[in-house]
Amino acid sequence: MQKLVVGARKIDVELTAGHLTAFDLYRRELQDWNTRMNLTAIADDEGIQIRHFLDSLSCLLAFRLPEARPPTADLRLIDVGTGAGFPGLPLKIICPGLQLTLLEATAKKVRFLEHLCDQLELEGVRVCHGRAEELGQDPAHREQYDWAVARAVAEMPILAEYLLPLVRVGGVCLAQKGENALAEVRSTERALALMGGQLARLVPVELHGLAETRYLVLADKVAPTPDKYPRRPGMPAKRPII
Ligand code: SAH
Repeated sequence: MQKLVVGARKIDVELTAGHLTAFDLYRRELQDWNTRMNLTAIADDEGIQIRHFLDSLSCLLAFRLPEARPPTADLRLIDVGTGAGFPGLPLKIICPGLQLTLLEATAKKVRFLEHLCDQLELEGVRVCHGRAEELGQDPAHREQYDWAVARAVAEMPILAEYLLPLVRVGGVCLAQKGENALAEVRSTERALALMGGQLARLVPVELHGLAETRYLVLADKVAPTPDKYPRRPGMPAKRPII
């Protein structure tokens, strides 16, 4: 876990022995399950440390922005399309006070997440099997979160319709993006505005062991989302608001 330790230190995260035990267990479970099902294309030791764990932890740079509420006790965060748990679970390992909801549409990935949360003995994690379009219309989830995050799920206009309905007014949504972030953001103004969002900022992120620059795209929820959004499952991706 040396790569992770060094990379985390560079973004001011000091990993304890307890964190490392948890990340090591996470890595082994991921590699083990990945031999039986397609959880992730990145399954080598270094890839997991840098591209999964460290990249997930880079979201902490957004939490530390002066205007953001720090991720202390009872902050409600939903990770939409979490896959094998990214970025939500690494964040939970570092910030145990988070009230974390992991949302994933694929049943076999949900089974992995449930098993992993059990093994990691995490409290305050809810694993939901479903789609963002459904949860966004469910009163138990709609506008219930302080933060909604996503990595590698969809392009920005689609993501705006997935994430913003889940966030309370005054909350924030965060999309982890690659080199294309600037172009994507330009095409997302209309979708953000319709959902009650407002682009807040783009935070460039340089990670140890990664050549490319990554971006955190942050949008504030400034007004309630109109009832008709999100549209029914499949529609945001089929007819993105651009
Ligand atoms: N966030 C993870 C996984 C990315 S792959 C990572 O960065 O590694 C995208 C995942 O999003 C897939 O597991 C897919 O099942 C899920 N997904 C795609 N659209 C979704 C939706 N509308 N609602 C919930 N999950 C969705």
